[in-house]
Amino acid sequence: MEQKDVIYLDHAATTPVKHEVLEKMLPWFSQNYGNPSSTIYGLGRTTHEAVELARETVAGCLGAKSEEIFFTGCGTEADNWAIRGSAYANRKKGSHIITTAMEHHAVLHTCMQLEKEGFSVTYLKPDAEGLIQPEMVEQAIRPDTILITIMFANNEIGTIQPIVEIGKIARAHGILFHTDAVQAVGAVPVDVETLQVDMLSLSAHKFYGPKGIGALYVRKGIRPDIFMQGGAQERGRRGGTENIAGIVGLAAALELACSNMNETMKNITEKRDYLINRVLENIPYSRLNGHRTKRLPGNANFSFQYIEGESLLIWLDLSGIAASSGSACTSGSLDPSHVLLSIGLPHEIAHGSLRLTLGEETTKEQLDYVVEKLTDTVEKLRQMSPLYEAVQKG
Ligand code: PLP
Repeated sequence: MEQKDVIYLDHAATTPVKHEVLEKMLPWFSQNYGNPSSTIYGLGRTTHEAVELARETVAGCLGAKSEEIFFTGCGTEADNWAIRGSAYANRKKGSHIITTAMEHHAVLHTCMQLEKEGFSVTYLKPDAEGLIQPEMVEQAIRPDTILITIMFANNEIGTIQPIVEIGKIARAHGILFHTDAVQAVGAVPVDVETLQVDMLSLSAHKFYGPKGIGALYVRKGIRPDIFMQGGAQERGRRGGTENIAGIVGLAAALELACSNMNETMKNITEKRDYLINRVLENIPYSRLNGHRTKRLPGNANFSFQYIEGESLLIWLDLSGIAASSGSACTSGSLDPSHVLLSIGLPHEIAHGSLRLTLGEETTKEQLDYVVEKLTDTVEKLRQMSPLYEAVQKG
């Protein structure tokens, strides 16, 4: 089967680089190759200007100032920097951090590491639909709380958090607020002023930009400790020669995503709801994970009782459908997803889960094919399950 024949429903893992984005990136490899720090000559000034132009574009899309945008190597780095940098910078004020049990491992593992270093962390448990109630955040605040880090939208179940309300609480208490918006930026409107966040992470490969480039928004006046020691790049706060082609690609992809946002959201949401309704109607013992409406436009996450998610993925792959059971970073692990467990799913149901994430190029015809294959495959797998047989026999 050729790659072009694959029905790709794993856009939360990554997206293809758009042709227009790639075109804008190409001159920054072999043609304009100067080091942006070498501004003494023209080649260096050209790349320096390209980086600064990209910074302005990204800032414009997020409602930020360009000096508040710092380019990083990926979303993971942006999360690590925001959390560790804020923890170390505020150590004298306190050592308590509030986060959630459903964060991406870039946040979760960073917080766990900080616990080993003497910080204490509260992991808030979401409700059954994956929502964190703002009151829970307020109740968890202690006199020594220095940072709240709560994701904008979950990468597995797609639930979108009440970030504005949480931001207000954080600000009222004078506590730094970071949000991992890696899944949200480029998919839904994100404006740092409206959100009242102090730091926000994003990653280009989630919105049709290249892999290996991300950014951290840091509100003016806030100074997380330096995470990447080195040269004077990124105003001395993140050393390392800039990935110019990546930075240009990130800005181009974000600009495209933001210019068509309303139309794209409407279009993808319609297709997502079509898929959700058809799956729930066609497949018995199935459930939708995550909030019905407060969810990312492209995210559909299901659990099917009496089957193994991993077997389902293998069968779908054989039918030319690329999907996942949860986060790409944990695929290959046989443990059930920490996100599904955090919303209270029992292990056996969490094991039978499937994440289908739609993109701009997903068509209704593809979804019809997916529903057909999925219905057949779930039935086939259930026929092999002794538990299902017992249930059928009553
Ligand atoms: N945070 C979330 C919510 C994600 O979904 C991901 C990637 O899947 C990351 C962080 C990490 O981003 P990156 O792959 O750019 O390191």
